[in-house]
Amino acid sequence: MLTRNENKEILSKSDKIIITTHHKPDGDALGSSLGLYHWLKSQNHDVHIIVSSDFPTFLDWLPGRDAVLIYPDDMALCQSLIDEASLIFCLDYNALSRTNVMEGVLRASTAKKYMIDHHLDPEGFDDYRLWDPQAAATAQLIYTFIEDCVDEVSEITPEIATCLYAGIMTDTGSFRFRSTTEQVHEIISKLIRSGARNWEIHEQIYNSSTENRLKFLGHCLLNRLEVIHEYNTALFAVSKQDLEQFQVTTGDTEGLVNYALSVKGIRLAALIIDRTELIKLSLRSIGDVPCNEIARKHFNGGGHFNAAGGSSEGDLQSVVHKFKSILTEYNEILIK
Ligand code: 5GP
Ligand code: MN
Repeated sequence: MLTRNENKEILSKSDKIIITTHHKPDGDALGSSLGLYHWLKSQNHDVHIIVSSDFPTFLDWLPGRDAVLIYPDDMALCQSLIDEASLIFCLDYNALSRTNVMEGVLRASTAKKYMIDHHLDPEGFDDYRLWDPQAAATAQLIYTFIEDCVDEVSEITPEIATCLYAGIMTDTGSFRFRSTTEQVHEIISKLIRSGARNWEIHEQIYNSSTENRLKFLGHCLLNRLEVIHEYNTALFAVSKQDLEQFQVTTGDTEGLVNYALSVKGIRLAALIIDRTELIKLSLRSIGDVPCNEIARKHFNGGGHFNAAGGSSEGDLQSVVHKFKSILTEYNEILIK
């Protein structure tokens, strides 16, 4: 971690700042970006958030959300902002390919890149980094970054606290995952003290499903869940027709894979979705089943040890078949 003085110097030298995060931003990606955005704004920086795609509607209420620029929707403006930037924050990703259509323009930019992230195996595109794969969320690292820079804790406003709380809450499965350490709870306590209204944030994120989303969940649980008992593995295979039938939008599939993992005895869960251009996989595991290795070796992806993702070409059934066929490779760990 850079010192407070080093960080202050980097910020003072940067007159135009851009914040970026990964494609299809989740709660941590957007919460981290907006938390940092609000703080930099309060320090009178010229700062913009640019993302490569839309994001779940359950994040629409986050303070500052309207300031988020979506690259494909506003290409000329985003391109010129990136060209003029002297500092680009890269939040919640550690490989530029995770920014999808923005990869080329970010790679070409001469701005200094400051990566703040908690994923394993950084690519090494960054000039500065705050990287800790043990961190529960990037929002936790943003809190550490801001807390270290501020003179007064009151600089952490309710807006900042709300965004960072949302990031940590979503990336820890509401403080359930193993990454939820005592230190995470300490930060959460400070965020509540700074004005994060915890019950309201839970309400906004978890009690905002559309009727279609809930019916889609019911359909998947009833008709799309397959439990492979001999490998302690469960999967959902979701077709294009399923997505169309229930008018599934970005974010509606978030959390679905956890239902497969919640079956008693299951150690590996997969959600395999036909996204037309590609088949997308989400993997979750319990204990020593390495989701990130499976995603990296077989599905052109990566992520954390117990939560990873990737994609594959081909049709849904062939990817499901491929997934099942690699289970023998992990036989010993799966049936332990
Ligand atoms: P999710 O399953 O929620 O989409 O992603 C879980 C984790 O896997 C996240 O930490 C995310 O960064 C990572 N991940 C998801 N998809 C990909 C991918 O296509 N490539 C890489 N490298 N990581 C991914
Ligand atoms: Mn994250």
